[in-house]
Amino acid sequence: MTAPLDRDWLAAHPLPSPGEESDKNSRGRVLAVGGSMLCPGGLMLTAEAALRAGAGKVRVATVAPAALAIGIAMPEAGVVALPVDDRGEIAVAGADAVIENLARADALVFGPAMASSVSAARLLGAVLHQIGGVPVVFDAAAIGALRHRAAAVRALAGGAVLTPHHGEMAALCGLDEAEVAADPVRHACEWAETFGAVVVLKGGDTIIAAPGAEPLRYDGGGVGLATSGSGDVLAGIVAGLLARGATPRDAAAWGVWLHGEAGRTLGPPGFLARELLPLIPALF
Ligand code: AMP
Ligand code: MG
Repeated sequence: MTAPLDRDWLAAHPLPSPGEESDKNSRGRVLAVGGSMLCPGGLMLTAEAALRAGAGKVRVATVAPAALAIGIAMPEAGVVALPVDDRGEIAVAGADAVIENLARADALVFGPAMASSVSAARLLGAVLHQIGGVPVVFDAAAIGALRHRAAAVRALAGGAVLTPHHGEMAALCGLDEAEVAADPVRHACEWAETFGAVVVLKGGDTIIAAPGAEPLRYDGGGVGLATSGSGDVLAGIVAGLLARGATPRDAAAWGVWLHGEAGRTLGPPGFLARELLPLIPALF
C-alpha cells in the first residue's frame, strides 16, 4: 500500500521557511560533487536546482577541466577543481578537497553526472566516513557504489536520500531491472530499511520509501521528464531542501512533487531539463 503524494500531503508537511532576516549562509549551503569528462555540464543542473529550491549558496566540486567553464557559466556558484582519473571521472585524490569543503556545507549531493560506479565507489570510500552530520543525496553512479556500504549509510547522522531510477536500483540490489519493475514498492521499502535512508525509486510512478513510514507514490509529471538531465535537477532540488532544514523524507517528497509539477507545466516531450529550473520557485 502507498499513500498518494499530493497537495494534501504537502500541506500536512510544510517546509521550514527562512525568516526575513536570514542571510545566504543561514538559508543553507549545498556542496554538489559530481560531473565527469563524459558529462561535464550535468552538475550545473543540480547546482542551479539547489538554488531554485531555496538554498542560499552552492559550491560545485567537479573534474578540473570543467570547473572553470562551470564557474563562468554559472556565476552564482563557487567551484572546486578536482583531479581526473583514467576513466574521466573525479579521482580519489580529490577526496581531501571534498572533505575540506564539507565543513562549509549544510547538505551534500554526491554523484550527479558521474558515469562510473567504480570511480564513484573509490571516491565515496574515502569520503563516506567524513560526512558526519551533513544530510546527503546520493544519485546516479554513487548509488551502485553504495551496494556494500549499508552500515556506513545507516551511520550517517544527518540522514540520506537515494534517488535511483530502476536501472540504478537494480545495480544497488544485485537484481535485474525487470525484477525491480515487477515490485517497486517492496524493493524501495526493503532497501530503505536496509540503508536507514529514504529511497526515491524514480520512474513513470515514483515511490518514496522511508524507514518505518508509509511509502508515498507520485504519478504526476508526465513522460516529458524522461529526458537527459532530468534526474540531475531532481537531486539538486532535494539537496536544496535539505540545506534549508527539511527532513530527508519531506525534502524527498517535496522535491519529487516540485520536479513533477514543473514537468507537467512544460507539457509534452521535447522540453529540456534546464527549462524545469526557472519554474521551481513559483511552484512553492
Ligand atoms: P533520471 O533517469 O535520473 O534522469 O531521472 C528521470 C526523472 O524523470 C525521474 O524523476 C523520473 O521519475 C522521471 N520520469 C522518467 N520517466 C517518466 C515518465 N514516463 N513519466 C513521468 N516521469 C518520468
Ligand atoms: Mg540520473
